[in-house]
Amino acid sequence: MGWQTAAACRDTDPELFFPLTDDDTSLIAARHKMAVAPICGRCPVATDCLRWALDTGQEHGLWAATTPTDRRAIRRARSAGVPDPVADTDPMCPACSLLFPMPAVDGDLCARCTERREAA
Ligand code: SF4
Repeated sequence: MGWQTAAACRDTDPELFFPLTDDDTSLIAARHKMAVAPICGRCPVATDCLRWALDTGQEHGLWAATTPTDRRAIRRARSAGVPDPVADTDPMCPACSLLFPMPAVDGDLCARCTERREAA
């Protein structure tokens, strides 16, 4: 997995990405997801990460800030023929593509993230 060398989480405690429970509705899982979202949101290989987690059927942990339930939903949507943001060849916003699939503007960030960047 060559993409892992560029992962934004490579120096982060792996336990952050593996809540003690697989119950996605638990407060513990929600807190882990909130903690990893900003890391995954700026990760340059988030799409590779999510694709790998989907393709290998990862049933545990947060991959690209998705829970096992999120990934099951994506796999069900794929099976049903719903357009897949991971497989989509149109450039997606690298900052939020996995959390809020938004098309990139001119190959850069989406309008929402551009606004956030300008306000910061
Ligand atoms: S998307 Fe998140 S979990 Fe995946 S490699 Fe990047 S930082 Fe790590």
